[in-house]
Amino acid sequence: MPTEAQAGAILTIDLGAIVANWRLLAERVRPARCAAVVKADAYGLGANQVAPALAAAGCRTFFVAHIAEAIALRPLLPGVAIAVLHGPPPSAEADFVAHGVTAVLNTPDQVARLAAHGRATGHACPAILHVDTGMNRLGLAAAEAAALADDPHRLSGLDVRAAMSHLACADDPGHPLNETQLGAFASARALFPRLPASLANSSGIFLGQGFHFDLVRPGAALYGVNPHRDQGNPMRAAVGLAAPILQVRRVDSSQTVGYGATARVPGGTRLATVAVGYADGYLRALGNRGTATVGGIGVPLVGRVSMDLATFDVSALPDDLARPGVAIDLIGPHHSIDALADEGGTIGYEILTALGRRYHRRYGGAAAAP
Ligand SMILES: *Cc1c(COP(=O)(O)O)cnc(C)c1O
Repeated sequence: MPTEAQAGAILTIDLGAIVANWRLLAERVRPARCAAVVKADAYGLGANQVAPALAAAGCRTFFVAHIAEAIALRPLLPGVAIAVLHGPPPSAEADFVAHGVTAVLNTPDQVARLAAHGRATGHACPAILHVDTGMNRLGLAAAEAAALADDPHRLSGLDVRAAMSHLACADDPGHPLNETQLGAFASARALFPRLPASLANSSGIFLGQGFHFDLVRPGAALYGVNPHRDQGNPMRAAVGLAAPILQVRRVDSSQTVGYGATARVPGGTRLATVAVGYADGYLRALGNRGTATVGGIGVPLVGRVSMDLATFDVSALPDDLARPGVAIDLIGPHHSIDALADEGGTIGYEILTALGRRYHRRYGGAAAAP
């Protein structure tokens, strides 16, 4: 990681806010339990920092996507469950047992392979059965789940801990698929009546208690993304991104800015360039659409975003702020992840997971959490 002095921008990650967000959700779903989804390096914020902070706050179940993510986290998370959403790849069954990792089983083949491994070695592997209820991405079809329930021998060699499914439209409370999936999940659960159940992601938690079951699985909301589509954000912001101005120029006549000359500014415009570009996850789609702030004053992005640079119109700033070294806030209290995502035509999830490796990362706030 570059030092603060070397880096083009400083990424601030507030572990205290992430812990507070987890506590808020855990409180909201009680008596259900609250897991934490830390796949994709905790949505780009650093699973090695985020996951231990949440474990210290009392989180007992973590979800990742890949077995390699689980193996990397295992030594940092003693005594808690780590579940792998994608399940065991062929020939990787032994890794789950060796590292004490829970497998989410999505297909009859995954069930068969892990169960066979358990029977052959005498080590029953912890597992969660994933039943598809309308997402049509991963999970056992209803008929496959029913066949499994009819032939329990197929589960011997496994230590099945829960049944889960995943919502497709939870961020849209009025969407009819939410109730359809809830009904399908009730039918799937009836096949395995003794198993604890899990359905809700971040937005699913806000659909109401009927969606909570025994365990909820928030990711994005922990990191400050708004779980509601059209309402105020109940979560605390956890990320700031500030880039010091490299250069300021004042154009004395009408000129174009950047690659392709896609923007024209009038004479007298002051332009400030920062060392952040699409290679850092500052999306090229933000060209001529993004905004940022300096001391709360809006500064629009002008021209295309380059690989390593972006240019802002800082004409609205007082002279003492339109200077090299002054930080432009790309993400901060005046410009949320969701607002930046809107400008780039995407969602907060993609902004977070794209956050680059060239930023200096400053972690704070864990000690401040109660
Ligand atoms: C990513 C994921 C989650 C977390 O979703 P958020 O919308 O980030 O809360 C939960 N469950 C599954 C199966 C997922 O893939």
